[in-house]
Amino acid sequence: MNLKILRVVLPVMFVYAQGYLSEQKIDYFVRLISKANENAMTYQLPKNAYEYYTKDRQQKFGTFDFVVIGAGAGGTVVANRLSEVANWNILVLEAGGYGNDFSDIPNMYFPIQFSHFNWGYNSTPQTTACLGLENHVCLYPRGKGIGGSTLINGLVYSRGHKTDFDKWGEVVGSKRWSYNKVLKYFKKSEDFVYRDYEVPYEPQYHGTGGYLRVENYIYRSPQLNAFLAANQELGLGVVDYNANKLGASASQLNTHNGRRFDGGKAFIHPVLNRPNLKVLTGSYVTRIVINKETKSATGVEFTHDGKYYYVEAKKEVILCAGAFGSPQILMLSGVGPKKHLQDVGIEVIKDLEVGSTLRDNPTFFGLNFGTNYTEPVRPLKDYVLQYLEGVGPLTIPGSNQGVGFYESSYTKGTGIPEIELMFIPANATSNLSQRSFGLTDETYEDVWKYANIPQTFLFYVVDLHSQSVGTVRLKSKNPFEYPLIDSRFLSDPEDRDINTLYEGVQLALKLTQTRPFKAINATLQGGPLRACKHFPYLSKPYWYCALRQLTINLYHPLGTCPMGKDPKKGAVVDAKLRVFGIKNLRVADASVFPFALAGHPNAPTVMVGEQLGDLVKCDHKNDIIAFGFY
Ligand SMILES: Cc1cc2nc3c(=O)[nH]c(=O)nc-3n(C[C@H](O)[C@H](O)[C@H](O)COP(=O)(O)OP(=O)(O)OC[C@H]3O[C@@H](n4cnc5c(N)ncnc54)[C@H](O)[C@@H]3O)c2cc1C
Repeated sequence: MNLKILRVVLPVMFVYAQGYLSEQKIDYFVRLISKANENAMTYQLPKNAYEYYTKDRQQKFGTFDFVVIGAGAGGTVVANRLSEVANWNILVLEAGGYGNDFSDIPNMYFPIQFSHFNWGYNSTPQTTACLGLENHVCLYPRGKGIGGSTLINGLVYSRGHKTDFDKWGEVVGSKRWSYNKVLKYFKKSEDFVYRDYEVPYEPQYHGTGGYLRVENYIYRSPQLNAFLAANQELGLGVVDYNANKLGASASQLNTHNGRRFDGGKAFIHPVLNRPNLKVLTGSYVTRIVINKETKSATGVEFTHDGKYYYVEAKKEVILCAGAFGSPQILMLSGVGPKKHLQDVGIEVIKDLEVGSTLRDNPTFFGLNFGTNYTEPVRPLKDYVLQYLEGVGPLTIPGSNQGVGFYESSYTKGTGIPEIELMFIPANATSNLSQRSFGLTDETYEDVWKYANIPQTFLFYVVDLHSQSVGTVRLKSKNPFEYPLIDSRFLSDPEDRDINTLYEGVQLALKLTQTRPFKAINATLQGGPLRACKHFPYLSKPYWYCALRQLTINLYHPLGTCPMGKDPKKGAVVDAKLRVFGIKNLRVADASVFPFALAGHPNAPTVMVGEQLGDLVKCDHKNDIIAFGFY
């Protein structure tokens, strides 16, 4: 063929091939999403961890300097930072596998909860909240895999308020955890990309060039615009909420061009080629081995691929199995409340209040509004096309588009947020959400069943500094049983939590009375709840009843191995993340938070992981020969 003809034919073939490939890609995603939605309706979540059980005899797996248990928000950072030291070798043991095209799609938020990425924990039956749910049981999804709960979470990047960290520093007796110090770590991890110029961004509070991508939101529905304008009308402000300000904004998300940017993608994938880092997926940890005489952690027992192993840790074991996994593993290893360990037949190595202070951000999700605005519903193919361009509704996790942070009467005039409103237009009222929340048919019918989804929005009302305290306990000494989770939301004796949520409901109702919401005719839908029908509809007693029916967790369990000064007062780890009374053992995940923060826990957990990296490097500085990898 002569050159002239080639010059014409080749570009045409190229364009044709590209078109063909992208058609194939679109079809692939359409099938993936359709199948995931279908599977989610019937998928049965496991009730225990027996899939990891083996009868095999124990064998040696070798020796590593550090063994990291769990590769979630905390563990991925720990693995990355410790393996920067070229002469240390690091083993990461993670029960799940890697994320994939399905977990990448933020809007698969509900379907992914019915997949192998979710451990599928439940609370024990509750008496003070979750009453509108089947058997009064709160569902407690936790992510499994490289990235942990960041594989399935809502992706909202929200750190907490500066006063939280100043209090944290005080409570644990170390300035390392106060705001000025932790801000340095938040910025170190972050790679902020400013994409929505209509909402404020304060660059001095953000980092760029770090491992963890943060984008501000790019898909704006007219309902979100009404939410932001309503905040302005009430003088509440539209702000960068990660700059310690009260007010609302479009959500800042851990996405990368609209795709989920989980902890694995952020901190593990870029460093997997380090020769000193071994990441072993499909590995279920059953116990940390602690020498009873020296009270020193020496290694870890785990199952992998039908085999049962012991791996030795020459320097330290770092526990990052999350707010349920970490207390469970500690207790199985003989570290926990003495009486409880004796009750389940585990020899006590160290008596500590492990699992005694479970906290979360209790959330009321029964505020559902209809409007006269109809979100256009397009064929799935169109949404996939948008997604592949990094825009559109598939880039939104669980349809959450905006958040706002507000004082309550408990903090009036201090600038400290106590209430968060999450703004969720459309799509969150499907039958799948009934399954995801575990709603009874009656509750679902009363509040959601007749909602016209494309015209609907929801407020989630969040109690930020929850005072209620629950527990995590072992069901038995069998490591393959799930732990018992007693969340006890809204159980604080002063009723501060329920009062705060009631104020949040009133604030949401007030917002809907502003001009921007009136312009779309925002009208409270559903109700009255049959369970609360003995109270005058929308009266204060009615709302208090509804709050107990429809307050659940925001999937933010934390504080089950809390950091503090004094183990006699309930602290499990010290300000250097070391387990009290046990050598060579630290915890670095959301379980170490001393209390609930005015934010979402992923960003602060990453900060904990960053701190762990520096603390360990400092304590072992004489063993560092070479910093080889960055
Ligand atoms: C549905 C949902 C929505 C959420 N939304 C948000 C949000 O929008 N913003 C936000 O900031 N936070 C959100 N969170 C919470 C946030 O993701 C977690 O707080 C954060 O991931 C906690 O990190 P972690 O390291 O403590 O635990 P995880 O990230 O849960 O990691 C623990 C890891 O340990 C592994 N593991 C546990 N036990 C074992 C064992 N025995 N052997 C081996 N491996 C084990 C697990 O598989 C997991 O990978 C959400 C969580 C969920 C589930």
